Amino acid sequence: MKLSLHNTLGRRLQSFEPLHPGVVGMYCCGPTVYHYAHIGNLRTYVNEDFLRRSLEYAGYRVNHVVNITDVGHLTSDSDEGDDKMEKGAAREGRTVWEIAAHYTNAFLLDWQRLNLLQPSHWPKATDYIAQQIQLVQELESRGFVYRTSDGLYFDTEKFPAYGDFAGLRLDKLMAGVRVELGDKKNPSDFALWKFSPVDKRRAMEWDSPWGVGFPGWHAECSAMSTALIGRTLDIHCGGTDHIRVHHTNEIAQSECAHDGEPFARFWIHNEFLKTEDSDKMSKSSGEFLTLQVLIDRGFHALDYRYFCATAHYRKFLTFSWPNLEAARDAHRAFRRRLKPLLDAWNGSRQGETDSVHEFSEGQKGWQAQFEEALGQDVNIPKALGIAQSLARDGNLTEAQRGRLLLDWDAVLGLDLAQDLPDPPPAIVDADQSAHIDALVAARTQARESKDWPEADRIRKLLADLQVVVTDTPTGPVWAFKG
Ligand code: AMP
Ligand code: ZN
Repeated sequence: MKLSLHNTLGRRLQSFEPLHPGVVGMYCCGPTVYHYAHIGNLRTYVNEDFLRRSLEYAGYRVNHVVNITDVGHLTSDSDEGDDKMEKGAAREGRTVWEIAAHYTNAFLLDWQRLNLLQPSHWPKATDYIAQQIQLVQELESRGFVYRTSDGLYFDTEKFPAYGDFAGLRLDKLMAGVRVELGDKKNPSDFALWKFSPVDKRRAMEWDSPWGVGFPGWHAECSAMSTALIGRTLDIHCGGTDHIRVHHTNEIAQSECAHDGEPFARFWIHNEFLKTEDSDKMSKSSGEFLTLQVLIDRGFHALDYRYFCATAHYRKFLTFSWPNLEAARDAHRAFRRRLKPLLDAWNGSRQGETDSVHEFSEGQKGWQAQFEEALGQDVNIPKALGIAQSLARDGNLTEAQRGRLLLDWDAVLGLDLAQDLPDPPPAIVDADQSAHIDALVAARTQARESKDWPEADRIRKLLADLQVVVTDTPTGPVWAFKG
């Protein structure tokens, strides 16, 4: 099976072959664990899972790395603003380390519920500080770094190809955008290492050859991908929002530190999950929806996975409750239709090996269509449509159809061999108080932004959970109804 992928580098469909035969090095930017992942973030991970499964279906072994950003990088792309982890800690009255542990666990639970394959490595940024320091040293010794009063910066002017990836010219890059230049030489220069303030200990800080501080937020992906995959990645993934700054900066750092060796051969960017009135769903906007909220509303995590499968990864997908309900109904109907087919296949192979069931001509035709859809830039909605049509094809026996569908589930990842388990209980025990904390924080946010319908919706969710919230001068506190 041949795969073509749309490469952001060059912006065209390109036939894919890994650098080392048989093995694909694939790096995906992971979550910053200062809050729950929202379903927009999760769409990106589901799409990356479709890609990973397609590569494995095509016969490759995938060395898949997803990082956990547990160092608080700053809230804006221009290295200004608050530290996200410290913000999370202040919001919830916990330490940054507790925040990181809690939201990492919540993320891993979502990962499992969505039936995403486990990556080969889950590196945490805080476990790779030495490698990040080494990267900065490599850049410094090659003359790409300058020092200001608050940190070490990458000098983008020294890397003439800087804007190429995003299709931007350096002098135009930030034109019209107000950026606090501070001591930086160019608006696009970015922090490699930030110093801790002299008068204050930060919750997360490390020694370095330049003084106590913490790494700039792009450094971790360059350092960890090199450590776990090598200098040149076959595939690097992320959301489209990362093209302009984060990935542009990763390329600059890695290629300059490695004397021009290409950083990633294929860049795959996932388009956003949007809402009907906004092009993005973000953690700071009112429509902060988690997988848990969907589950609380009676959906199964795999209904959401199916919903993601209905749109190609390069197209926007519009979230609304009716859209999700339509996907759930289609998903459930699909499973009902499949049940007798899978039973027939399981029944027919009792005591036999698969090899006695050579593919018929009819099966081969369907198989070719399915592989062709995957091969064309991982066209999952098309592949799903083919699976739907196959399920109805009366020219094949039930067992013949069941066999193919079970095999294709290696890519669709809907766990079709199992009956869909009942939706898990509204709240997983260990997660309960954190879930309520998050709802209370979302209620506060909605009230602050005067989004009364949202505040009201959250109030109802809390009431359903038998939770009473009392507003005090230091913020809201909650308790179960006595
Ligand atoms: P973050 O935790 O903000 O770094 O985001 C994790 C991943 O989700 C990144 O690959 C982002 O590009 C991606 N992402 C953020 N918002 C959305 C969205 N609304 N739809 C799809 N992907 C998103
Ligand atoms: Zn990254």
